[in-house]
Amino acid sequence: MPVERASTIVFDDLDAFEKRAERVYDGFSYGLYGTPTSRLLEDHIAQLEGAARALVVPSGMAAMTLATMAVCRSGDRILMPETLYGPARDMITRFLGPLGIAAQAYDPRLDAGIAELLDDRTRLVWVESPGSGTFEVQDVPAIVAAAHAVGALVAADNTWASHLLFKPLAHGVDIAMQALSKHAGGHGDLLMGSLAVRDEALFRRLKDTARFLGYGVSPEDCALCERGLMTMPVRMRHAAASAAKIVSWLSQRPEVARILHPAMPDHPGHAVWKRDFSGAAAVFSVVLRAELAPFQAEILRRMRLFKLGASWGGVHSLVAVNDPRKGRTSLDWLPSGPVWRLSIGLEALDDLITDLEQALVAPAAASATAGRKAAE
Ligand SMILES: *Cc1c(COP(=O)(O)O)cnc(C)c1O
Repeated sequence: MPVERASTIVFDDLDAFEKRAERVYDGFSYGLYGTPTSRLLEDHIAQLEGAARALVVPSGMAAMTLATMAVCRSGDRILMPETLYGPARDMITRFLGPLGIAAQAYDPRLDAGIAELLDDRTRLVWVESPGSGTFEVQDVPAIVAAAHAVGALVAADNTWASHLLFKPLAHGVDIAMQALSKHAGGHGDLLMGSLAVRDEALFRRLKDTARFLGYGVSPEDCALCERGLMTMPVRMRHAAASAAKIVSWLSQRPEVARILHPAMPDHPGHAVWKRDFSGAAAVFSVVLRAELAPFQAEILRRMRLFKLGASWGGVHSLVAVNDPRKGRTSLDWLPSGPVWRLSIGLEALDDLITDLEQALVAPAAASATAGRKAAE
């Protein structure tokens, strides 16, 4: 992809210069509003999402802020699942709340039951399936039907599945969002987000809001993202195959209380996941036995290949330690014990399993000894 840099665009004549605002949605009028490089990436993302239009912005978080601010006005209500990406929940409550936009968090397992929370002030319903950290699967078509019945729009954070494994727009969602920083970037060194829509008027509203907020993307980052999109199917397939093997290995381990992954047949959202998704990403959580809580730092220190980091979808395997119980009311089903989110990268599978095993075994033995001593 050619990288074309621009802040300034020059015009052939006075007439073209005076009408430059007409080019905001399609052409080139100022670098911030689009370059040939960013427009090409947006066209590709629109095709991949099955969308009429797509917009790229500086981060996944920027995409979530943009979608929410473009749709909601003072007096409107937003519904968001308790599992929505944490920083976005903060943005909605702490930034938009004081601007007069009310938010209510809902149990991600509500599905069609969300109808009871909807009213004619509800402008936007966010979904994220599976949900950040705890991987509850949402019945997106059922939520869309209920939201549309009261005239609310639905926005989906589809970062886990990406356009490859779930197509939000084909399931009725109005705004498909993904953090391209994850699977598309794929190497832990890119920040970008996208929004895709079926509707030209909604696209223009998003584009105007991006302009008001001053969001622009670097053409170098667009080219990197485009390169990532080329290898993304192969990377995701490879990582998912490794993840499936690691999940089955972990599920036999005495250190593990539960695995939270929608591809597991005993996952409560498995049937809906199977119905709507064409595969699984290599990102899931594991709940360790509660007795291992004091040994977490030790286990993490022993890991060589798995690095401690908050992102995912890259070539290197990561573990993120987050307590999902903070601020959640719908987690009575979750066993006690530390919750680790794993992102499986492209390292050799045997090496990853060996790394997990050597990290877990000694601390687990120490915890068993401590448990026996306490019992005596
Ligand atoms: C990472 C992430 C985001 C935010 O993306 P950034 O590009 O890091 O701002 C949003 N939603 C989900 C589910 C994510 O994992």
